[in-house]
Amino acid sequence: MRMDTIIMGGGLSGLICGIALAKRGQRVTIVAGGQSTLMFNGGSMELLGCIDGNNVSNPLEAISILPQSHPYRKIGAERIEALAEEAKQMLADAGINMEGSAAANHWRVTPMGIAKPAWLTLSENLRIDDLGKLPAKRVALMCIRGYFDQPNGMLAQGLRDLGFDVQTIEFTTDDITALRRSPSEMRATSLAKRLLSTTALQRVADQINALTGEADMVLLPSVLGQADDSDIKTLQGMCNKPLRFVATMPPVVAGMRMQTLLRHYFKMLGGNYLTGDTVISGNFEDGKLLNVSTEKLNDMPLRASNFVLATGSFISRGLAANYERVYEPVFDLDVDADADCDQWTRFGILEPQAYFNYGVTTDGSLHCQRQGKTISNLYAIGSVLSGHDAIKMGDGTGISLISALAVARNITGGK
Ligand SMILES: Cc1cc2nc3c(=O)[nH]c(=O)nc-3n(C[C@H](O)[C@H](O)[C@H](O)COP(=O)(O)OP(=O)(O)OC[C@H]3O[C@@H](n4cnc5c(N)ncnc54)[C@H](O)[C@@H]3O)c2cc1C
Repeated sequence: MRMDTIIMGGGLSGLICGIALAKRGQRVTIVAGGQSTLMFNGGSMELLGCIDGNNVSNPLEAISILPQSHPYRKIGAERIEALAEEAKQMLADAGINMEGSAAANHWRVTPMGIAKPAWLTLSENLRIDDLGKLPAKRVALMCIRGYFDQPNGMLAQGLRDLGFDVQTIEFTTDDITALRRSPSEMRATSLAKRLLSTTALQRVADQINALTGEADMVLLPSVLGQADDSDIKTLQGMCNKPLRFVATMPPVVAGMRMQTLLRHYFKMLGGNYLTGDTVISGNFEDGKLLNVSTEKLNDMPLRASNFVLATGSFISRGLAANYERVYEPVFDLDVDADADCDQWTRFGILEPQAYFNYGVTTDGSLHCQRQGKTISNLYAIGSVLSGHDAIKMGDGTGISLISALAVARNITGGK
């Protein structure tokens, strides 16, 4: 069947674009090659966290001073507020309940205990609106015995540096102890599966209620809720004190939940999601992409009126490099990257790295280019775009959401 739009990549940007198009009545297929970077996401979205080393307090205001090459400026600074609101609502419609405002960053806390500016944070996670006015003074940091993906010492120290009075409390329950028979099972994902029943959650709550006498707030690693947030709400209801969750090292349950909920929502809207397949090539004619071939459907090219490249950055193989050049591996699209490979990286892990800014070349409507010519029905969204730096500027997830919604509107004629 001919589709209206085929999206290549099933991460945050591909799914949001697919949902937006399906909601507008389009027939959409997402070809989803593999795991996405949502698997690293501890439960926060960032619109714009930092410019030239300075933290941003109001992303909407700060966007106007970004260079014209930044994706937000290409989309139009005046459009970002409405698109950000649409994104927040769409996440909520998918069952992802997040809090925050595009006009005022709050602070999220990383697994290492560092506060970073964020736009949206999952409702159940620790969120600090004002570093001068913490949400609690005395916090009990619950440490699950034998669980290693939470660097408790660093997290506790980081929280103390922020001004919290932290008590670390190690605990276990029969269900958790049973998992410890195999050390490789002590991952957040296994804990989430083990702590599914009301009885298992009650045992955790009993420990929390018994051990946290003096605390104003209890913090627990984010190891619950792989499918939805019902177990989280159940446990919060069983505890005598406010219970908030803190991000863990990967595998990250919260990110997996977001991916699952977005995929379900897309399918519920009639979208077609081809899991585990990869787009390998396409045929171009008269400045248009006619069809694409995938690894599994190699002899049956997929045709559509429009195509969206949402294949991510180097980590997801949306971009690649050899000894000579940085390139886009599916269609060999034009990329914005330094020709001289000595410029790609700098020595020192904390140095700004030029290659973080690399991505495919696009025009103001986010059309891709090939051999200097615009492809009128091929758009790029998310971290495959050039001109931004998710690590340095804290704009990765924001660009995924905003560019996905902007392109969905471009495809459907601004509707
Ligand atoms: C380690 C890490 C941690 C991060 N943490 C944060 C954070 O805490 N907060 C934040 O705001 N941002 C964070 N980011 C950035 C953020 O995750 C990304 O900017 C954003 O989620 C990217 O989404 P995306 O859909 O553009 O790309 P991706 O998530 O990379 O998804 C691209 C998808 O396309 C698939 N794909 C690739 N090639 C093909 C093909 N040929 N055919 C079909 N499918 C293909 C890939 O397998 C992948 O599933 C982090 C990024 C990384 C790498």
